Amino acid sequence: MTGTAHDPILEMSHVTKTYQVGRSRAPIVAADDVSFSLRAGESLGVVGESGSGKSTVAKMVLGLTRPDSGSIRIAEKDRTVRVRGSRARLDRAKAVQMVFQDPYGSLDRRLTVTAALEDTLRRHHPQQSRSARSRTIAGLLEKVRLKPELAGSYPHQLSGGQRQRVAIAKALAVEPDVLVLDEAVSALDVSVQAQILTLLNDIRSTTGVALIFVSHDLAVVSQITDSVLVMYRGVVVESGSTHDVLVNPAHPYTEMLLSSAPGPGWRPERVAALRARFAAS
Ligand code: ADP
Ligand code: MG
Repeated sequence: MTGTAHDPILEMSHVTKTYQVGRSRAPIVAADDVSFSLRAGESLGVVGESGSGKSTVAKMVLGLTRPDSGSIRIAEKDRTVRVRGSRARLDRAKAVQMVFQDPYGSLDRRLTVTAALEDTLRRHHPQQSRSARSRTIAGLLEKVRLKPELAGSYPHQLSGGQRQRVAIAKALAVEPDVLVLDEAVSALDVSVQAQILTLLNDIRSTTGVALIFVSHDLAVVSQITDSVLVMYRGVVVESGSTHDVLVNPAHPYTEMLLSSAPGPGWRPERVAALRARFAAS
């Protein structure tokens, strides 16, 4: 990658995505003129209620969904999915990796932790020797703080938090520039959530990977992001530093997100405590 450290590694400009469900109905605008940029090591939160378009944005970054209009630039190359060769897909896979809410869905149940990591490494580093691969796997397990004795375990033998660590290790195995985490801690207990968030913060500072952290839980987002986009029905209604958005929300929707409890992950008293802490800092 050329360019300076200050150049964005990812830039989404005026991206719109609509879904047509049935002929007679009006199309759903899942993303409406969404723009943002991300630099190496930065962490961006995407928050909003269910259905606000967060996953649509994440999927477009990952190249899993095509935008109707606008562009998504990753590092130097324009990867606005008009480039469709297998080589282009591999580049994108390398640059951007994902971790979803349910690692059961993304981990192969027939593969042990080691086998899952071997599988990823073999595809992305076909030239790597067996011994180098073993060392890489040991390093990845250490990075996600998974005990070496769990290397031979299958997904069903692991806890939810451990499975999510494996999913993160698999994503890191290809040394991505950007890690997209879509509700990655939403299914975990609060204490496990905190461990994973600490881990992600450490990984971000040691590797320089940028994070796009998608969550309906503003309290979780506030613990791991520098800046946030607040989405409402496909529109970014507010964006800015996490600190400013939490302490001084400019949009009534953000205020509503902060003060109401629309879902199980929302804990207004937790948000209130966080806001007080942010305001004092
Ligand atoms: P979020 O992740 O914030 O819950 P989504 O991006 O999943 O929101 O969805 C945004 C809107 O787009 C919702 O109204 C959803 O129903 C709609 N949508 C998402 N994916 C599809 C799809 N594949 N087909 C039709 N509608 C979709
Ligand atoms: Mg979603």
